[in-house]
Amino acid sequence: MDDNVVKRFENFIMPEPMSGCWLWNGALSGAGYGQMGVNGKIEYAHRISYIIHNGEIPSGMVVRHTCDNPACANPHHLIIGTMKDNCDDMFRRGRNRHVALKGEDNRAAILTESKVKRIMKMYGKGIMIVSIASKYGVTASAVSNVIRGISWNHVTGLKNRRLKNNRIYQNIQA
Ligand SMILES: [Zn+2]
Repeated sequence: MDDNVVKRFENFIMPEPMSGCWLWNGALSGAGYGQMGVNGKIEYAHRISYIIHNGEIPSGMVVRHTCDNPACANPHHLIIGTMKDNCDDMFRRGRNRHVALKGEDNRAAILTESKVKRIMKMYGKGIMIVSIASKYGVTASAVSNVIRGISWNHVTGLKNRRLKNNRIYQNIQA
């Protein structure tokens, strides 16, 4: 990885103080994995992170999350595994059934349309993302996805915006 890639990677990182996850403040795949362009190709952020911090990924192996948060790129939450390990993880977590971040029709969702509207109001008043998350019993990642227009965008009308500040415990008005 050249310095330019490392710099761009670091620009997209948004450390989340409770979980220690490094949330990805850039493009996310449909399944919620961070993505970044490298040499004209779209690469997964967690794979880039692994390579930056640990070196090449052994051939035939995959990079897995120990934190069950696909948007996380913290190298301490990443381990090497086999494709079979990865499938086992997905089956165990049921992620294969609920990859979309649509709305109330997603059975895994705890948020509701009215909660989403209240979250936007709280964020507008300058309340920190982590405080909003603990009020609604969801992860900071879930709140950040709402505010960024990644989930619930049919309610908020927002689309894939980056948070201006990469610190999730601060609230810089967009
Ligand atoms: Zn993590």
